[in-house]
Amino acid sequence: MFTQFIDAAVPLDLSTLFVVAMCVAALLGLFLLYAGQQERVRALAWWGAAYLVGGFSVALWSLADEIVPPALPSALLFLACGMIWSAARLFHGRSVMWVAMSAGALGWIAACSFPTFVSGGTLRAIAASLIIFAYVVLTAAELWCERRRNLIRRWPALFVPVLHGLVFLFPLPLASLLPSERGMLTLASGWIAVFVLEVILYVVGTAFIMLTLTRERTLTLHKTAALTDPMTGLCNRRGFDEGACRVIAARTRRRQTVTALLFDLDHFKRINDRFGHATGDTTLKLFASVISSGMRADDLIARLGGEEFAALIVGSLEDGVAAAERIRVAFETAARAVGGRYVGATVSVGVACGNPEEGVETLLDRADQALYDAKSAGRNRVATAIDIVWVDAKSEPQSESGDAVHWTAYRRPVIALRPAAPSQSGTHVDVPSSVRAIA
Ligand code: GH3
Ligand code: MG
Ligand code: MG
Repeated sequence: MFTQFIDAAVPLDLSTLFVVAMCVAALLGLFLLYAGQQERVRALAWWGAAYLVGGFSVALWSLADEIVPPALPSALLFLACGMIWSAARLFHGRSVMWVAMSAGALGWIAACSFPTFVSGGTLRAIAASLIIFAYVVLTAAELWCERRRNLIRRWPALFVPVLHGLVFLFPLPLASLLPSERGMLTLASGWIAVFVLEVILYVVGTAFIMLTLTRERTLTLHKTAALTDPMTGLCNRRGFDEGACRVIAARTRRRQTVTALLFDLDHFKRINDRFGHATGDTTLKLFASVISSGMRADDLIARLGGEEFAALIVGSLEDGVAAAERIRVAFETAARAVGGRYVGATVSVGVACGNPEEGVETLLDRADQALYDAKSAGRNRVATAIDIVWVDAKSEPQSESGDAVHWTAYRRPVIALRPAAPSQSGTHVDVPSSVRAIA
């Protein structure tokens, strides 16, 4: 039954395959060029141009040797491979290496000036395979270096070029096995149809992968922009809320406390009025750089709006106070002079610690109350919000009714514990030794 089909099978016609390969490369090249222009992604345009050069080289192959110098079609094909590698570099924000990109083509043209190379079919086949393989490996390496960004989608992007390189490397082991030059050439001509078919699949596959990667990156860029404050580069309120949800969920599972820090620049309106809005903006950026370098890499930092910033850290109240004090002092030092003028900007901080189950809104509310206390006490200081029920009633103060007392502990320069309104929540919290020390 199958013999019927085999008998009826049309043998692959090489010239038809070449025409198909040329048309596919040219069509996809134009499409990628257009997409690159629309999306304003240079890498796509380079990729498209590479396909056009590749398609053109295939077209030159079919022309007679008298019209086209024999070295030219292959040299153009290698240039196309170099351009694809350059497109991958551009896609990842790296520059084009012009010499390395053209090295394959130039080396080929130089080698073709030697008669032994032109007449040595096996040598030429090996050299061509190695050049293509080198560019494919370079392209795959570019994608491999970036694998951390999105592993899953990058696997096909890596797999396809590597497979392509291996197909082109296939004649090499055979060259050493086959006895004569004729044998190698016969085999190469037999495989050429397979190569052309593979090239067509490669061209279509990589175009699809490039478009997918570009779309994915555009989406990521838009998402990041929506979560970022453009002036300082920190998270905005939305970014903070999203990040806080993740932190809260992870810490709830691990039963770890989290601490919120709320920063508000002191008398910022006055700074704007006295020194101008531009100096105000520079002061905000300065604070952003102080807080970025003063916190740990995995702390969540954001500009909530205006001159208000927040941080969410995993750790105790003690950790929060230490971080807040570090930032306060660093900013006071850094913001003495801004843009060559004495500005003397400072920051007040409210710190609140709690169980992640409380939710970030509650924590921020409590940090905000502490911040209010820091402002009332004279600014440029850190205040903590603690609901305290003193365990030992004899040694520690209590409210007259004997109920729990809400205390606010101030860190330097206000070195005093000040009784505030009685606690509504009645939450039992052990007083950290550091808070007593501050007091
Ligand atoms: P306090 O010490 O009590 O916090 O006083 P303040 O002056 O810092 O607080 P207030 O809320 O009265 O003023 C905040 C000012 O921050 C008002 C607003 O013009 C300014 N501001 C908000 N966003 C920006 C910004 O992006 N750039 C600049 N330069 N100023 C801003
Ligand atoms: Mg404010
Ligand atoms: Mg302020």
